[in-house]
Amino acid sequence: MPLDLILLGPPGAGKGTQAKILSQRLGIPHVASGDLFREHLRQRTALGQLARQYMERGELVPDAVTIQMIRGRLEQEDCRQGVILDGFPRTPAQAKALDELLTGMGRSLTAVFYIQIRDEFLIRRLAGRWTCQVCGAVYHVEFNPPRVPGRCDLDEGPLYQREDDTEEIQRRRIQVYHEQTAPLVWFYRERGLLVEIEGERSVPEVTEAMIRAIQLQRAADP
Ligand code: ADP
Ligand code: ADP
Repeated sequence: MPLDLILLGPPGAGKGTQAKILSQRLGIPHVASGDLFREHLRQRTALGQLARQYMERGELVPDAVTIQMIRGRLEQEDCRQGVILDGFPRTPAQAKALDELLTGMGRSLTAVFYIQIRDEFLIRRLAGRWTCQVCGAVYHVEFNPPRVPGRCDLDEGPLYQREDDTEEIQRRRIQVYHEQTAPLVWFYRERGLLVEIEGERSVPEVTEAMIRAIQLQRAADP
């Protein structure tokens, strides 16, 4: 059975960081809706033009286009053994659409990791976030610095700060998370899929908590 995982949590919780590590350890792709949108922006596609106005304000891109973009990605060959979804779903409508999409493929979610962290830590994390322009690896000036300042450890690509990582937009993204995405915690808890992860621990500790949860799940449902 494919391993279909969701990483859920506010902006800055560590979803992208963990998704990259899990993707390598588990051998399944990391599918990040924010990265897909940023790629559209770079390529100047019509979808990128549309998404820009929402991303610049820290608002969500409308469900219909977001769902269509993710559908296209999940239908690609490399997702057949499973995916690690990061930043999607972000609304109840997206969660329902994902259920239908996976059901249509004869699949269902393995687990939803809810990365818990207090709001007061988020801005500090986001303010120090630097991302590799080449591979998307994520660093933090203080908590997770690259070996050589400004260069990615993996491919020496230049690191950049995201345009939407200004404090004003960060605060709006956190607010939007509480209004529109946090209800998904209940949605998945009711379905027995939610695994709560303490997100204020170190990067390796958070990874190990997730790996342990996957092993338990596999042991229970081989
Ligand atoms: P973060 O890493 O801070 O959580 P993301 O990279 O996931 O941010 O998202 C950046 C922006 O991309 C969001 O503020 C939003 O405008 C857009 N976006 C990403 N994923 C979604 C989604 N599932 N639904 C709607 N908009 C999204
Ligand atoms: P998200 O994808 O949820 O928005 P990121 O993975 O981009 O979050 O992480 C946000 C920032 O916090 C990055 O600079 C990252 O290096 C840092 N970070 C991630 N996990 C931890 C952790 N467990 N402890 C300290 N800093 C972390």
